[in-house]
Amino acid sequence: MLELEQAVEKILAAIPAPKTESIPLAEACGRVVAEKILASTDLPPFDNSAVDGYAVRAQDVASASAQNPVTLQLVGRIPAGENFTGELSAGQCIRIFTGSPVPRGADAVVMQEDTRVPTISSPSPPRSGGEGRGEVVLRAQGDVYILDATKPWENIRFHGEDVKRGTALVEPGTRLGTAHIALLAATGVGQLTVNRRPTVALIATGSELKEPVPGAQLSPGQIFESNRAALAPLISATGAIPKIFPIVPDTAEATRNALSRALAECDIVITCGGVSVGEMDFVKSAFEELGGKLDFWKVAIKPGRPFVFGRLNENSLDVGCSMLDVRCSQVPGQKFLFGLPGNPISAFVTFLLLARPALLRWQGATNVALPASQGILAEPISNPDHRRHFVRVTVDAEGKVHSAGTQASHILSSLALANGLIDVPPKTTLTAETVVQILHWE
Ligand code: AMP
Ligand code: MG
Repeated sequence: MLELEQAVEKILAAIPAPKTESIPLAEACGRVVAEKILASTDLPPFDNSAVDGYAVRAQDVASASAQNPVTLQLVGRIPAGENFTGELSAGQCIRIFTGSPVPRGADAVVMQEDTRVPTISSPSPPRSGGEGRGEVVLRAQGDVYILDATKPWENIRFHGEDVKRGTALVEPGTRLGTAHIALLAATGVGQLTVNRRPTVALIATGSELKEPVPGAQLSPGQIFESNRAALAPLISATGAIPKIFPIVPDTAEATRNALSRALAECDIVITCGGVSVGEMDFVKSAFEELGGKLDFWKVAIKPGRPFVFGRLNENSLDVGCSMLDVRCSQVPGQKFLFGLPGNPISAFVTFLLLARPALLRWQGATNVALPASQGILAEPISNPDHRRHFVRVTVDAEGKVHSAGTQASHILSSLALANGLIDVPPKTTLTAETVVQILHWE
């Protein structure tokens, strides 16, 4: 039996190099970049003020205090967005705003709150501290009283201190999050090359399955189909595009028809159910009849058996097979099948551990691991089985990890309570207080 890591390695090795496309930055969140993106500008692009106030020479105001203000001559005004070509001389100040370029000659900005502009009714400098602070008078001439000393370069945001032109902003293989998008936008990236996303057919097999639509009633022996609803958002979360197919009854023909259509229309096909050893399990045989090659792995994990990974190389299509004609394929290229078990928890966990990495790697992502955090077991958790058990757990706000409840592979209520999985080795009891790694899916 393959270890999980070996199975993932084999799957990833089969995934081809990604194809690229150019898209606007506004559409790039969640996409994997195909190129190293270098900063085309320094950030900030020029020295600018961190506050609303007055640009000064620090040496002019070194002695300023509320009791002994320094009087400077106001010689100009620079709103944000304006280019100022003048220069500040000794004894002068310039009205300036957050984000305004710092004028030549100035080496500090005094906050507006530490200044006072004389009004008609009080033409002389104030003698007592505090009074009149923060008064907003917008004019470009007259005197300004500076009520506090400032150090050289105070309240100035320096040209290039955030990003230097030419430095790498993102490496190829990075999946863009909102923070990356902000950085790229700030350096003027409007369009970028990303890797294509796979379309993923999602097929549920089982004659017992009923579509959960409003007003639907279960006949005896039926259950509501739940795997496609759970897997579609997990597929979307990788950046791939799920395409939900109708429920497939357990017949060879229906299974072959559904797979044929899915393989023609999508890059990757994910099925759930119908991959066991029973005579009603048609996924494997249908895929082979269509020319696919199966690697049927018993991966040593619980929940998870059985799981099927297969490839269909369009060029090596069985000529006797008319079900999937290469000329009919709307999406050319090598196709992949992930046959997940039908039990809802098995489908969920095998998707996360075996299919998710492949969907990310198809898009060229370097990091295909599930997000993980650390926690401390609040109680012992045992795995009497000879396979590793990915146990549903609930991590509380203090990082204490509890079992989410019954762990059988059909029990959805404990999955709904869980916010992570922990990997419990075979024939092992992890004692309370053990530090564990928790895998997350959202
Ligand atoms: P199978 O893998 O087809 O043998 O199915 C294993 C168990 O999972 C059976 O009890 C099925 O009824 C159930 N099952 C299979 N597919 C689904 C599905 N899409 N939604 C809910 N339950 C399912
Ligand atoms: Mg079935």
